Amino acid sequence: MGTAAVAESTWPPRSHREDPLSKQKPLVSIDPELLEETEFSFGRSSAGQTPTDGSSPVVMSVALEAFERRIGLISLEFAPGHAASKASMEVLAASAAQTVAYLRLGQRFEVETRGRATAERTLRETHNAMIKHQQVGRMGDFRFNTRTGESYGSLECYKLFGFDPRLAEIDFGEWTSKIIPEDRQRIIDTLADCVSRQAPLKFEYRIELNGEIRYIACEGALDIDHVGDSTYYGVVTDVTDRRRYEERLNAARQELAAALRFASLGELAASIIHEVSQPITALHVGAAAALRWLDAPGNETEVREALRRMTEDTARATSVIGGLRALARGAEAQLAEIDIVEAVREALMLIGGRAARERVSVFASVDYANIRVRADRVQMQQVVVNLANNALEAMSENGQHVRELHISCFTEADHFGMRFADTGPGFASDNLQKLFDPLYSTKAEGMGLGLAICRKIILAHQGEISARTNEPRGAIFEFKIPLLDSPAISWPPIG
Ligand code: ADP
Repeated sequence: MGTAAVAESTWPPRSHREDPLSKQKPLVSIDPELLEETEFSFGRSSAGQTPTDGSSPVVMSVALEAFERRIGLISLEFAPGHAASKASMEVLAASAAQTVAYLRLGQRFEVETRGRATAERTLRETHNAMIKHQQVGRMGDFRFNTRTGESYGSLECYKLFGFDPRLAEIDFGEWTSKIIPEDRQRIIDTLADCVSRQAPLKFEYRIELNGEIRYIACEGALDIDHVGDSTYYGVVTDVTDRRRYEERLNAARQELAAALRFASLGELAASIIHEVSQPITALHVGAAAALRWLDAPGNETEVREALRRMTEDTARATSVIGGLRALARGAEAQLAEIDIVEAVREALMLIGGRAARERVSVFASVDYANIRVRADRVQMQQVVVNLANNALEAMSENGQHVRELHISCFTEADHFGMRFADTGPGFASDNLQKLFDPLYSTKAEGMGLGLAICRKIILAHQGEISARTNEPRGAIFEFKIPLLDSPAISWPPIG
């Protein structure tokens, strides 16, 4: 009799990776699709065909049935004359069906056990991660039943409020008693309002915990269950560190704003002193000299000269004050379409007296006619006077060196520009960046504001200002502003 290689009936299976049914080439063939679908029941089998002829090999097939369903077929090959009886085939089929059914159940059980273990592990990991996240984020979750007023929270939630973690639920009064009196009524009202409107919760309040004020942010969404009970599911987060940081930031911001206000007031006051004290001193000196000359007869020429200079100085002081007033109004330039060269010529008239006193030769090449720009006339004049005065001042200590100031106007690529080149001591190239900084000065009496104001004005006119050293000695200051119909211009100016 041939061997029926029915699957080995060990239980439970030795390894989940080992499929006993596929160990060897099976003589038992079982339809896998049928196996997948089968609900097993035991006890009935039916034999297949029986051999009729004793001379040739005989194949006998028997259906495998379990749970009243056909689950496969077993085929056996017999040597000639050795065919099994129908009864023994039936016994074989019943036991094979039973074995297969057990194996199948075992496999299914194992798969389910593994699935459940994985699900449990995932659930445990998620739960642990949630606790960790809540601890790291200093947050807890809660459920608040709006009908009973009771809340249930996570461990971290209880910790945030200092509630005993063994408490099953927290009642409304216990929760509100934690809120500091200044916030309590507001929060009770807000919550009542959210409940009545069935609106989401989103508010912040302070609690007192161990004598310390903590900031709690609360957010929640409403869920109404099948019996009509409404429950808020939400999160409470301890945002104390964030609030403290914001408070410190705000305080620093306010301090900075106050310091800046103070600094700009100081800057303005200092610049007024700087720019106006010189012409006022000159006025005082001029008036005193004129009075002295009037005491003696025949000094009309000197008196006239003194009065002329006083007029110049007054004009300068007035123009400077006008410009500073404009700066004080937030550096808002009073822009108008002007002939810039005409404004420059007027401004240069103001430096003539000083240039003469400092024995400086001024070469001004300002022969352009009608160059149109949109600018604040007084501010532009202030820049011109400032740059010229700086040059004259620089050359006042020149000793035997040539004292020349070359002032020129030019137009270049949609811009009007001016250059002030002197033969003074110049400046060290390391200081080039600092020259335009407010309060940078190398002079004993200097305020270091002139160039800062010039730069502010030129930038407000969408222009550029720069400095470089002159050859063989001295300094060159240059500014450019856009011409009226320059495509580079885009009004209103920024800053
Ligand atoms: P202040 O004249 O009060 O010092 P400024 O802002 O006008 O302030 O100038 C800042 C500094 O730039 C001056 O102290 C000086 O060192 C330098 N500076 C300005 N103009 C010249 C110049 N023409 N030649 C050399 N150095 C200059």
